[in-house]
Amino acid sequence: MYVLVINCGSSSIKADLLDPATGARKGSVRAERVGTDGAFLRVDDGEPEALGHADHTAALRAFLPRLAARVPTIDAVGHRVVHGGERFTRPTRIDAEVEDAIDKLSTLAPLHNPPNLQGIRAARALLPDVPHVAVFDTAFHSTLPRRAQAYALPHALVAEYGIRRYGFHGTSHGWVAQRAADWLGEDVRDLRLITCHLGNGCSVAAVEYGRSVETSMGMTPVEGLVMGTRAGDVDAGVLIDLMRRAHLDADGLDHVLNRESGLKGLSGVGNDLRDIEARAADGDDRCRQALNVFCHRVRKYIGAYAAVMGGVDAVVFTGGIGQHSAHVRHRVAQRLEFLGAHLDEDRNRDAQVDRANPVYAVSPPHARTAVLVVATDEEHAIAKATADLCLERDLVAGADLTIPVAISARHIHLTQEAVETLFGPGHRLTPLKALSQPGQFACEETLTVVGPKRSLERVRVLGPTRPACQVEVSRTDEYHLGIDAPVRDSGDVANTPGVTLVGPQGALTLQEGIICARRHIHMTPADAARFGVKNRDVVEVAIDSAGRDLVFGDVLVRVKDSYALEMHIDTDEANAAEIEPGHQGVLEGTGKVARLQHRRTHFDPH
Ligand code: AMP
Repeated sequence: MYVLVINCGSSSIKADLLDPATGARKGSVRAERVGTDGAFLRVDDGEPEALGHADHTAALRAFLPRLAARVPTIDAVGHRVVHGGERFTRPTRIDAEVEDAIDKLSTLAPLHNPPNLQGIRAARALLPDVPHVAVFDTAFHSTLPRRAQAYALPHALVAEYGIRRYGFHGTSHGWVAQRAADWLGEDVRDLRLITCHLGNGCSVAAVEYGRSVETSMGMTPVEGLVMGTRAGDVDAGVLIDLMRRAHLDADGLDHVLNRESGLKGLSGVGNDLRDIEARAADGDDRCRQALNVFCHRVRKYIGAYAAVMGGVDAVVFTGGIGQHSAHVRHRVAQRLEFLGAHLDEDRNRDAQVDRANPVYAVSPPHARTAVLVVATDEEHAIAKATADLCLERDLVAGADLTIPVAISARHIHLTQEAVETLFGPGHRLTPLKALSQPGQFACEETLTVVGPKRSLERVRVLGPTRPACQVEVSRTDEYHLGIDAPVRDSGDVANTPGVTLVGPQGALTLQEGIICARRHIHMTPADAARFGVKNRDVVEVAIDSAGRDLVFGDVLVRVKDSYALEMHIDTDEANAAEIEPGHQGVLEGTGKVARLQHRRTHFDPH
């Protein structure tokens, strides 16, 4: 399979033809000054070839046949689209309606979406018979929690103008996070990573267990780090002051913040870090200051994101600066020892990465927090996402399979030690009835769960005993108890709130262990093969219920030989979908079925 990846700017086109499985390039074209009389292109870094006056369509028409001649077929086209807004949270097959939607999002990205769309229209006209897929820069950050999306502005304004944080460079952050996890020999869903994309545009992301939970760019790509020509964070009051005293209007501010600031504004010698480093070494004060401000800002974000995630397993540097500037990495990493991150200076100087060897550790072996240089490859990421979507559609279209739904009421798992504290020395749990998952049973025993505000009585204990205590409640239960418990996978109770349990023979205060269980599907490996999913994939599931059909996102797939196929939702979720259990047990089959609707894959290297 071969995928053509197109990245259209207002006056440029980058086109790469590659094999999505390996990333190998079959050809690359760069067209510049598109839309002017002086348009030209280069094929594979060759000599410039003049095109005369050429718009996006004419430029594409000029080089497409030459690229197409290099492979048996172009099977799909992947388009980089900067802004996907609220709607596009995953790669999307393009049709006329999707084109319109991308067009409407131009208000959020006026510099980027219109040329992206021009490229899409031109390419679809020239290659009408192959699938075209839009891959969005914002999509990887669609998992930002609401608290990370919000600006503290008046609600009415926010609602009217759709003001929120989106984040960008998502394709790169997702890609390098996966490469880092591969290199560390870990599942990305077990890692907390801070990825620093430092190029002409710069952003940092906190990637917690495979999902972006914070990123430094906001509603537009101006927020956050110091960039080539963009300012990054500025006190909003400064802008008001500039409007009043320097008489800058919206266009004037746009120009200053996007084109005259950042490394260019600070250094006075332009936006190329190589020039700035050279002059700083010669003693140029403004260039030294530019480097200091740039690196200080990156370090500040790394510290903040470690706090956001409660720790960090690896810090990743990528982008033209992140991959090439040992000096910047050295400065940024200073004083990060408290996170367990420090540099081996020899390795930092020697770091070399490319597509064939994309990861190089610049931290010493066995460092608590790895510091990695990772080569980003957005074209390969887009090609792979495009290919995955085409294959996934085939898979899901053929999967007319259903999943039984069960409602999991609030319940408690205990250690044997806790059982004895609460029910008396030597006490053993008494099975009441078997649950659908083999070996699991509801017990005769119940406990009172005491929260800061109120209590819940007769909460059922489940057996057998476990290595750690865990209390699973619904959001409504949390409000009732007065506890803010996180949504977690069962068994993942680190850093969760505690709660007090009261039994007939004693009370026990847990320091941690109360969670709102993440909705999930249990299945066997054979089920997973039928659905085309793997353990820990996150999927969407549609539930038909009389008049209140609902699609649940963020559903975790759990695969084990000993599981039985069943989706578990809590009582709040069941109420929302109007699914009624026979009666309120601990885990009640409902007779309803769910359908796997989309398969949401993380960036997968294979
Ligand atoms: P990108 O947008 O990822 O292509 O990155 C472009 C930035 O990387 C520019 O600011 C370059 O100055 C910077 N860059 C590229 N190569 C080097 C290098 N060898 N040393 C320092 N900076 C570099």
